[in-house]
Amino acid sequence: MSETLANLLQENRRFEPPAALADAANVKADAYEEADADRLAFWAKQAHRLDWAKEWDQVLDWSNPPFAKWFVGGELNVAYNCLDRHVAAGRGDKVAIHWEGEPGDTRTLTYADLHALTCQAANALADLGVRAGDRVAIYLPMIPEAAVAMLACARIGATHSVVFGGFSADALSGRIQDASAKVVITADGGYRRGKPSGLKTIVDEAVAQCPTIEHVLVVRRTGQEVAWSERDLWWHETVETASTEHEAQPFDAEHPLFILYTSGTTAKPKGILHTTGGYLTQASYTQHAVFDLKPETDVYWCTADIGWVTGHSYIVYGPLSNGATQVMYEGTPDTPHKGRFWDIVDKYGVTILYTAPTLIRTMMKWGDEFPAAANLSSLRVLGSVGEPINPEAWMWYRKNIGHDNTPVVDTWWQTETGAIMISPLPGVTGTKPGSAMRPLPGISADVVDDEGKSVPNGGGGFLVLREPWPSMLRTIWGDDQRFIDTYWSRFPGMYFAGDGAKKDDDGDLWLLGRVDDVMLVSGHNISTTEVESALVSHPSVAEAAVVGATDPTTGQAIVAFTIPRGSVDTAGDAGEALIKELRDHVAKTLGPIAKPRQIMLVAELPKTRSGKIMRRLLRDVAEHRSLGDVTTLQDSTVMDLISDGMKSAKSDE
Ligand code: ATP
Ligand code: MG
Repeated sequence: MSETLANLLQENRRFEPPAALADAANVKADAYEEADADRLAFWAKQAHRLDWAKEWDQVLDWSNPPFAKWFVGGELNVAYNCLDRHVAAGRGDKVAIHWEGEPGDTRTLTYADLHALTCQAANALADLGVRAGDRVAIYLPMIPEAAVAMLACARIGATHSVVFGGFSADALSGRIQDASAKVVITADGGYRRGKPSGLKTIVDEAVAQCPTIEHVLVVRRTGQEVAWSERDLWWHETVETASTEHEAQPFDAEHPLFILYTSGTTAKPKGILHTTGGYLTQASYTQHAVFDLKPETDVYWCTADIGWVTGHSYIVYGPLSNGATQVMYEGTPDTPHKGRFWDIVDKYGVTILYTAPTLIRTMMKWGDEFPAAANLSSLRVLGSVGEPINPEAWMWYRKNIGHDNTPVVDTWWQTETGAIMISPLPGVTGTKPGSAMRPLPGISADVVDDEGKSVPNGGGGFLVLREPWPSMLRTIWGDDQRFIDTYWSRFPGMYFAGDGAKKDDDGDLWLLGRVDDVMLVSGHNISTTEVESALVSHPSVAEAAVVGATDPTTGQAIVAFTIPRGSVDTAGDAGEALIKELRDHVAKTLGPIAKPRQIMLVAELPKTRSGKIMRRLLRDVAEHRSLGDVTTLQDSTVMDLISDGMKSAKSDE
């Protein structure tokens, strides 16, 4: 077998940047040349976009790989860079956050407001005995206090560990214990799907297993009844009564900033450790470069939750270090109706939108009428992150949200990389639907074969990073050996991302999903992404997940789970006819090798709490096994529905 990963999908559509955007772009094509000529000098220049209390002596120390040190000897304060320096420059009255609660209540926080609140929280945490290097767990809904809590930790040098507010008590206590956190910051609850959901109860249950926790600091959001004990403190009685004066001390560039656990799509969550100077440099630069953010005029909105790395880098540290004005939304996209997102874009005049393929596909399923009902003309750059974006979803996004002329930047990165690594630059790169295109200036990504050799254009294989980058993870918290084994052992001297990718004939990069999900069909390695994209390119399909199931003749056979678009009739014979049509459609699009053995029409797919398709569970279903670990699943009833459907469906062959 000569191929590492088959290259089946061909895409010929291409979109050049709008001329006006290109002319005024923050970053132009010369950035690539500059970074190629001297990568470290390039990153040093980007680090100078921040305010340092003490300049570094050395840009990168890579003498003890894979343990990198960036900006060695430099000192800075992250919160100072996100808040104080904007206020000091006279921009205190500028809006930092337009906050929209799910029930429709709103708050507007200027940079001066956010600064004052953060100083209060820093003083309150210090009074509770939190010192530099201590860990603080944050378990909050999407309210401004979430950003304040993170910034307050950064301000006093405490390491935050944000846990997504949808996680269970077990997941929360596991993460608190792993990091030995001293304090938890939470709320009574938050609004989701039109109802207050409880957070404090979950914290109480979790903290019962966590002897290191000394205090629980509780924001009052919903006003619901909560149990109370001696270690509990109200935010409004502690933080909001503290002094608004607080002098930010500088910390070493390698001081730990946060621990964040990966979302758990594939395995036991890993506590990814990020540090201060390199992380902020790359988060800040990529915000400026990839989104072409103009702090004076743009209104930016990232729809991620603060509990994921996207929320860390592109709601808190990236936008605020650049002095941006942004929207923050508490709730779900279909409350009170399926047009809520577009009403928000319309209301605040959002110019830059950053969201995930799962949401784009959901919006496709709901129908074009919802975005059509709002005025989206303010949008000028659209971003995507989290999973491969199917070309048809990309086209739908551009056409229905981006009025057919807005660049779409598909950004590949991970919790581990800390910031965007592969992405078009909106004013420079001609984009192709479904491709993340090129590594950013200063980043060296490549696709290699089994032996670690770079594949030629047209070839597929493993995505690797050849050189250290400023916002790279420094280790897995408390487990250096797992850090080495997971990322640095597969290919000597390279970071192994765990994702498959291909280079097209122009050398542009296409992400092909996780290496663990690749299917081996009659001796060919076929990516789930390409088959899913072929399915989604059929006008009746909104979303698809594909897995390889053991097959006596082909080794593995392709089994597809497909969600039809809202208007499609799938009852009885119509469903059978659609399944046949879809199998033929895939065979025609990608070749007979990729024809699914079986297609199931389903209403939902199993997803992680961050909204990513969890294929390993579908593999269990396709192979009639009992289900593996479902604790990171968003909605566990989905699996029962799919398993029942699978049992009653007859095989197509
Ligand atoms: P775990 O590591 O616990 O399984 P996770 O990988 O889902 O969780 P994240 O770090 O949030 O956690 O996600 C990073 C992964 O998401 C990438 O490795 C890749 O598989 C996928 N991904 C992110 N952005 C893109 C993109 N633009 N195109 C394709 N895949 C993407
Ligand atoms: Mg991962």
